[in-house]
Amino acid sequence: MAEKRGVSLIWQITIGFVAGILFGRMAAPDAVAYVDPLGKIFMALLSMLIVPLVLSSLVVGVASLGDLKSLGRIGVKTLALYLITTAIAIGIGLALGNLMQPGAGMDIALAKATEAKAAPSLGQVLTNMFPKNAFASMVNANMLQIIVFALFLGVSMTLAGEKGKPALDFFNSLAETMYKMTAIVMKFAPYGVFALIAVTVSKYGAAVLLPFAKVIAAVYIGCILHAVLVYSGMVAVFARKSPLWFFKGIKEASLTAFVTRSSSGTLPVTMECCHNMGVPDKVASFVLPLGATINMDGTALYQGVCALFIAQAFGIPLSLTAQFGILVTATLGSIGTAGVPGAGLIMLTLVTTQAGLPIEGVAMIAGIDAVLDMIRTSLNITGDAAVATVVAKSEGAEL
Ligand code: ASP
Repeated sequence: MAEKRGVSLIWQITIGFVAGILFGRMAAPDAVAYVDPLGKIFMALLSMLIVPLVLSSLVVGVASLGDLKSLGRIGVKTLALYLITTAIAIGIGLALGNLMQPGAGMDIALAKATEAKAAPSLGQVLTNMFPKNAFASMVNANMLQIIVFALFLGVSMTLAGEKGKPALDFFNSLAETMYKMTAIVMKFAPYGVFALIAVTVSKYGAAVLLPFAKVIAAVYIGCILHAVLVYSGMVAVFARKSPLWFFKGIKEASLTAFVTRSSSGTLPVTMECCHNMGVPDKVASFVLPLGATINMDGTALYQGVCALFIAQAFGIPLSLTAQFGILVTATLGSIGTAGVPGAGLIMLTLVTTQAGLPIEGVAMIAGIDAVLDMIRTSLNITGDAAVATVVAKSEGAEL
């Protein structure tokens, strides 16, 4: 993977971040609009990396595992950790929603209704994972289908023995090339981060955010608690590493996720951070793309807080059973949420509908969703990385 970089890049990104906040606060919106393309280009460059990067690194990763047994073992551990951490996250969200009462005393004007999304059945989710045409999956950047195809491809190459070797060499070379490309794109990160944060800050002034201060605080506090308690705890107990080591290692990715609001877009950066932390590529190339697609602890936590916010704002009591229902729906729903900006809001329509809450509540959240999306996406990818380090350690890696 790309060679270790010095401390300078994260400093450059941080400077871009702080400068972006200042510029967004002080410059006129028209002036901020000029830097908007820089952010869009950065997002496009990150997206450009994803399909070839995931495909090549996962194929090589699977082929280097050598046998199906280790693949199965890594798969089971990863899925179990993803599900457990997601359920805990919603638990924290619900607890904070009950404690902080973010919607209590809200003066509600019924806003425009948002379309409710129907919950896909488990059968549908499973069927959709299998590509009918692998090239179509790549064109549409359908991550789960790409993962399934890459698993088949990697295993088949190993089984093909000598004959499969040239194909494997090709993917090996492509993977190395994509790692280099990631490093090149990251050189642009400080400018992209500057523009993205400037545009957000300029758009969301205090007047927009103030009525929602409590719900914003609940989501931010929840995400920070989850990271500090669950991820640090997990990394300390299972990977025997300090919280400082973990958060230092993942900070570039956490910050990139914060400003891009896309787990998928941040994936190349998450992979590079994990590589630098010593997670072997064969683990990272499987655990991280899967996590960017199905593991959304921040999104799940946000569902818990927002469901209670809506219930309180509309004066609808939510029983413990109803809250348990939210836990189940949100855990399963987060699997089907894409790692793109705003996807969690669509899922919120699903959760609120199932809990019998008015869909108008989602429209209220929609006005400030970008600000909530920043922290939840950051938590989403930090969670993927925490699981990657734990799984890597359990597979004998030196971190
Ligand atoms: N933006 C989030 C992500 O990419 C998904 C969401 O909207 O919650 O992880």
